[in-house]
Amino acid sequence: MLPRARFDHPAFSPMSVVTRFAPSPTGYLHIGGARTALFNWLYARRMGGKYLLRIEDTDRARSTPEAIDAILDGLNWLDLQHDGEITYQFARAPRHREAAEQMIARGTAFHCYMTAEEQEAVREKSHAEGRALRSPYRDGKAPPSPDASYTVRIRAPDDGDVLNADLIQGDVRIKARDIDDLVLLRADGNPTYMLSVVVDDRDMGVTHVIRGDDHLTNAARQIVIYRALNWTPPLFAHVSLIHGDDGKKLSKRHGAQAVHEWRDMGYLPEAMNSYLMGLGWTSGQENLTKEEAAPLFDLAKVGKAPSRLDFKKLDSVNAHFMALADDQRLAKLTLAHIEQRDGVTLGGAERIALANAIPVLKKRAKTIPDLADQARFVLIKRPLALDEKAQSLMKDEFKQRLQRLHAHLSKETAWDHVSLGSALKAFATEEGVGLGQIGPGLRAALTGGAPAPDLGQALELLGRDEALGRIADQI
Ligand code: GLU
Repeated sequence: MLPRARFDHPAFSPMSVVTRFAPSPTGYLHIGGARTALFNWLYARRMGGKYLLRIEDTDRARSTPEAIDAILDGLNWLDLQHDGEITYQFARAPRHREAAEQMIARGTAFHCYMTAEEQEAVREKSHAEGRALRSPYRDGKAPPSPDASYTVRIRAPDDGDVLNADLIQGDVRIKARDIDDLVLLRADGNPTYMLSVVVDDRDMGVTHVIRGDDHLTNAARQIVIYRALNWTPPLFAHVSLIHGDDGKKLSKRHGAQAVHEWRDMGYLPEAMNSYLMGLGWTSGQENLTKEEAAPLFDLAKVGKAPSRLDFKKLDSVNAHFMALADDQRLAKLTLAHIEQRDGVTLGGAERIALANAIPVLKKRAKTIPDLADQARFVLIKRPLALDEKAQSLMKDEFKQRLQRLHAHLSKETAWDHVSLGSALKAFATEEGVGLGQIGPGLRAALTGGAPAPDLGQALELLGRDEALGRIADQI
């Protein structure tokens, strides 16, 4: 007997909820996985329980340390912190073998000596009889030779139904005879995925298995294994998959799917969480943080229909969280984005200009790249290179007006957007024209055609010297 798993610690009361996220480290953390992790996190927090993390690294050919890092990195970025230590599945193979032995001792599993060819023939025969695979060795038939190699299979029940009272999908009944005598240990003694998941969930004290509905049919098989071990199965909640905006299964052509790609696209993690929780769960409220959502989260309100990715909606959720985000944090993210995008290092004055612009600009930006774009006008150097449209506004007559405006603004003592806005209005009255006759040209002079907020704000953000300098450059 191996030492008892640490999850048998008394702190894990059998009555308290334990959820887990169990990714296979064969690639990046995908959006579907991130949502699964989030739902597990939310449900555990809702119930005052624990949310555990298990890395299912039993597929030695496909599991890589880089993929483990990428998954942990994605979860960290989303701030989905698990409780306790990470469980690595491969390291627990001896415990999985022990459980298989336990089943053999109980008569619910057996040594199976079928060769691959035999298996095919038997499968065909079983199917012809209207049942799943039944091994000829299930009832104690002698091995073909004393040293014949064998797998360990479960002796699947023949009668009755296997019921998964799924918390999301509703009752899912499968006839027991439709479930194979599943392999539990391969000929090399290695446990199969189906066995490892059951033993790990049991030892980790998992009460609720919340995962993608691509595992729905596995639930019935796993329930059969639980029964064969005389263990009570956990409750299952299979979340429907995420589809593209066209309703089709998510694929590359729908755009980014890995969490790190969303980060690179300039979405904030709190916005991602807020958006992801809405893929399947109806909370009735918009823009919840995961902390706000936790007390409201309810598996009964997770829908059965596949949800659809909607980038426009994600943009609007992100815009909401951008406006709320800390200025220094946004400045850092925007700076990093600009430096990487343009392959430059911004100097001290530019960093200050950028930092000053963030509190104003963040209210109008959808993403970090968008914010970087909005901030471009404070970073460009005099004399500005005007784009074609901006250039076309610089007629001689307008230049004379700009000269008068320069003189008018030079007298302005308070360089803040409210005073500057009033000064512009007063100037327009003096000139006997509407603001529409001044605005576009002034904007062109100040930004060269780059996006910018309203003129009062733009003037304030540039500062007196820079703003007057840019105007003077056009006169
Ligand atoms: N490792 C499985 C996967 O990544 C999940 C298994 C489970 O949640 O039971 O699809």
